[in-house]
Amino acid sequence: MKYKNITIQENFDLSSRVGMKLAGTARFYTEVGNRDELLDALSWSNENQQQIYILGGGSNLLVGETGIDALVVSMNFLGREIVFEDDEFVDVHIAAGENWDETVAWAVEHHWWGIENLSHIPGKVGAFVVQNVGAYGQEASQVVQSVEVFNIEKNDFETLGVDECGFDYRKSIFNDEKKGKYIILSMVLKLQKNGQPKISYPDVTKYFEQHGILSPSIQQVRTAIISIRDAKLPLPETIGNNGSFFKNLLLDEKQFELLKDHCVEHFDQDMIEQLDYFSSHYTRNGKTKIPTAYLIEQCGLKGHAVGGAQVSQQHALVILNPDGNATFNDVQQLIEYIREVVLQKCGVWLEIEPEVVGYDFKNVK
Ligand code: NAP
Repeated sequence: MKYKNITIQENFDLSSRVGMKLAGTARFYTEVGNRDELLDALSWSNENQQQIYILGGGSNLLVGETGIDALVVSMNFLGREIVFEDDEFVDVHIAAGENWDETVAWAVEHHWWGIENLSHIPGKVGAFVVQNVGAYGQEASQVVQSVEVFNIEKNDFETLGVDECGFDYRKSIFNDEKKGKYIILSMVLKLQKNGQPKISYPDVTKYFEQHGILSPSIQQVRTAIISIRDAKLPLPETIGNNGSFFKNLLLDEKQFELLKDHCVEHFDQDMIEQLDYFSSHYTRNGKTKIPTAYLIEQCGLKGHAVGGAQVSQQHALVILNPDGNATFNDVQQLIEYIREVVLQKCGVWLEIEPEVVGYDFKNVK
């Protein structure tokens, strides 16, 4: 049906719009490309007493059989432009509906440093700030200057400075205390003209050692990241998946000791030494980062399948729908099995990273 400047579809199949390539329907669905269309969608949802659900690239969204009982609004705002420039920096304004990786490619072509390690991350620009997306030592909080939003409670447009975004590890106000309160329209990123390559992550260091490159160009960094990522984290366009399915752990001293105590009972000394390596090398704000993929792998779950859903052989943090025929039940069973095995052997309850709608996962700790 037509409403002002937008078209609203009913019972819209979301499976092609989400990473796992498996999803229920949106009760209502529309696409918005500018502020007027967004306001139309909001006014339709008010008149019809429907919740609103903003859809970005869908790569980090898992939708169950019951679908989304709301007006799903696909965010299609487009545009990239320079808003400030000097000898050292360039500030670029990027609309939330732009493809993230095309934006990285654009920055790399111009030799603007700061997001090249974030190459081949699927999704749209809006998602970048929501979970403070990061990879290989770069993250949103390091480059975001401001974020333009629509404040749903105040019914008004606002610009938030970086200090108002509440960035933390894979976290911001947008996925935490202000979840659902703002619609992200665009952001300004500050990129560097004379940056240095950030190649300290093990996979990246190894790549450049193997290729005999000491001081890579920005384009070489992008090429390296794409090669490393694609081998481990398939793009959802190729194989259905939601990227990292569980959050990495960030443990204080006491939690880390509990993990170790638990692992001593179920694993050998090599694993304990590896955990100690993480605690001395992978830290953030005094906490130890434990790669959840490592725990899942140690539990013997790499490649484990339930029906058409499978833990990736390449990366234990990725759940695949490899042939496109996983059922909702397969996904549910596999996730619950992984969480139970890891809880039993390592004593930690894994948190799901993607946004989940329409699944009823157990949430016992
Ligand atoms: P990885 O490189 O095997 O790293 C696994 C974990 O170890 C991550 O928590 C990572 O921290 C940490 N780590 C590795 N090297 C480190 C170092 N030199 N210093 C500090 N911490 C270090 O990870 P992966 O699973 O293959 O993923 C590749 C990258 O993509 C990682 O940076 C990962 O965080 C990122 N990623 C991000 C998202 C997201 O933003 N939602 C989703 C998927 C993957 P960091 O997490 O701080 O990097």
